[in-house]
Amino acid sequence: MAKCIKVKYPNSRKAICALRAIRSKNAHRSGKQPVAIHLCGFCHVWHLTSHKPAGKVARQWNALI
Ligand SMILES: [Zn+2]
Repeated sequence: MAKCIKVKYPNSRKAICALRAIRSKNAHRSGKQPVAIHLCGFCHVWHLTSHKPAGKVARQWNALI
């Protein structure tokens, strides 16, 4: 089984808080940074991701973030 080395957040609220903090801190920077959160299939907790969600999911994230 693959071991997940990403930072773990127990719920989506905590993940979104962390995402907001990182985004405001890195607002002046360009380059790779987390843009969304996702529920991990390996560890069943939330992670930040730099992959942009698409479609319906993207609209939900925009509403949250
Ligand atoms: Zn994981």
